[in-house]
Amino acid sequence: MNKQTVISELQDILAKDHILIDEELKNHTYTKLGGKADFFITPGTIEEVQEVIRYAIRKQIPFTLLGNGSNVIVRDGGIRGIVLSLKKFRAIRREGNKVVAESGARIIDASRFALQEKLTGLEFACGIPGTVGGALYMNAGAYGGEIKDCLEHALIVDRGGDVHQVLAEEFDLDYRTSNIAEKGYIVLEATFQLKEGHYEEIKAVMDDLTFKRESKQPLEYPSCGSVFKRPPGYFAGKLIQDSELQGKGVGGAEVSTKHAGFIVNKDNATASDYIAVIEMVQQTVKAKFGVKLEREVRILGEDEEMA
Ligand SMILES: Cc1cc2nc3c(=O)[nH]c(=O)nc-3n(C[C@H](O)[C@H](O)[C@H](O)COP(=O)(O)OP(=O)(O)OC[C@H]3O[C@@H](n4cnc5c(N)ncnc54)[C@H](O)[C@@H]3O)c2cc1C
Repeated sequence: MNKQTVISELQDILAKDHILIDEELKNHTYTKLGGKADFFITPGTIEEVQEVIRYAIRKQIPFTLLGNGSNVIVRDGGIRGIVLSLKKFRAIRREGNKVVAESGARIIDASRFALQEKLTGLEFACGIPGTVGGALYMNAGAYGGEIKDCLEHALIVDRGGDVHQVLAEEFDLDYRTSNIAEKGYIVLEATFQLKEGHYEEIKAVMDDLTFKRESKQPLEYPSCGSVFKRPPGYFAGKLIQDSELQGKGVGGAEVSTKHAGFIVNKDNATASDYIAVIEMVQQTVKAKFGVKLEREVRILGEDEEMA
């Protein structure tokens, strides 16, 4: 892959200011970790998305979707090829009792929009810091609600660059997973089926969830939220707490003293530090309780090359 050739070919299909070269991914991830993306692309139209996908497939250039970077850790060596961000797709609208949100809109904003429209069903998402696309990919959820409960359908681009409408049940949504990676879909827009409700009641639920979140989570430090999935029959946070791991760390990353399920970037951590803490937690919990903690967070990219 000749970088200059790729740049000039990308400039033929995209507006110039939609292409960033060697972009620091720590500026696009919640953990503030990670190396550079060779090409950081922010298309402005569906046609540009289609063109980029077709180009990448034709030229066999790897490409990676990035939402708000709130559930990924990018390794210190960064990501080769194209990183596609749909952050310019942020419109949210109402159609009957449905909320239709573009994939780069924050799911928090879709939840707030539903409140303004007096529509109930998206309250659970009021504090989840991902985009609509990332929330769908992860089947994000909190406090008893999840995307699966209210998604009706989504608009996607497939690996051939074609646009399709896909019904909620076709995404195999389950606890923090979907089949989007396996299918290779790029989510463009999601439609949520909601119900008419009362502003004050919807707001009271959202205020309560916000209070719970702010009092329990270490939101003052960069993190990627809960690192591990809930193991059947246990709570990850409780197992980590009972393993006396809170406050323990590697380099600048440590297990939060406020919420044991979070690992925080406390002091200029590297991705290697952060991943080492994840592994330390997994090994300790396994040795102490015999429980395997499965990561919820995704690790992308490659390690830094040693000089
Ligand atoms: C403080 C904090 C609190 C959190 N609380 C919660 C919580 O309560 N509940 C919860 O479920 N999660 C929570 N999370 C995790 C995270 O916010 C969610 O998983 C969110 O859905 C990820 O969305 P994102 O846009 O940040 O995706 P990213 O982290 O950028 O990406 C996640 C995955 O989605 C893929 N992806 C992103 N956009 C698209 C797209 N358009 N099409 C196809 N694939 C795409 C990416 O390739 C990647 O594999 C929390 C995170 C933090 C930092």
